Amino acid sequence: MAVYNKCIPLTYNTSIFDINYQHLKEQGIKTLFFDLDNTIIGYDESEISPSHIRFFKALSKSFQIVIISNSGKKRVAPALAKTDLKYVWHAKKPLKFGFKKALKMVSGQKSETILIGDQLMTDVLGGNRYGISVILVRSVKRKSDRWITQFNRKLEKMVIRKIKAKLPALYDERLKAYVNDHAV
Ligand SMILES: [Mg+2]
Repeated sequence: MAVYNKCIPLTYNTSIFDINYQHLKEQGIKTLFFDLDNTIIGYDESEISPSHIRFFKALSKSFQIVIISNSGKKRVAPALAKTDLKYVWHAKKPLKFGFKKALKMVSGQKSETILIGDQLMTDVLGGNRYGISVILVRSVKRKSDRWITQFNRKLEKMVIRKIKAKLPALYDERLKAYVNDHAV
């Protein structure tokens, strides 16, 4: 199967705060995976804010949560130090390694898990390859992207062009707003 088929998210939301978690709960979702960089905080921020801490505390009452990041421990551990959140660093998304590790940590089921992230080539591709649905969110701060992310963004543009050409209805429904929100 072509790669672009695996780069289509379940939905697109403007931020992690705008997702209808109640609906996910009703659908039987029990575990939430979150990407860290540019999904929760920008690259130029070193730790999550008090409002994030409150948000995750409330969300933890309904879901098991694991943060899955491609960044190293030096970045991830201090960023989450003021929380009780479980995390996986150097997750190597879009490979399956980090997802497997995270699911094991909470004894979760793939079918009851959703990933929330901001990148097509790591989060959406990775989640779909592993067999879990992915909610795409707007990047917190795209300007602070690292070089590897900038490279992924170039690939992402090509993939989005392909999806738009091959699957226009899905593009309109799930990616058009994402593209428009990031248009400079
Ligand atoms: Mg990210």
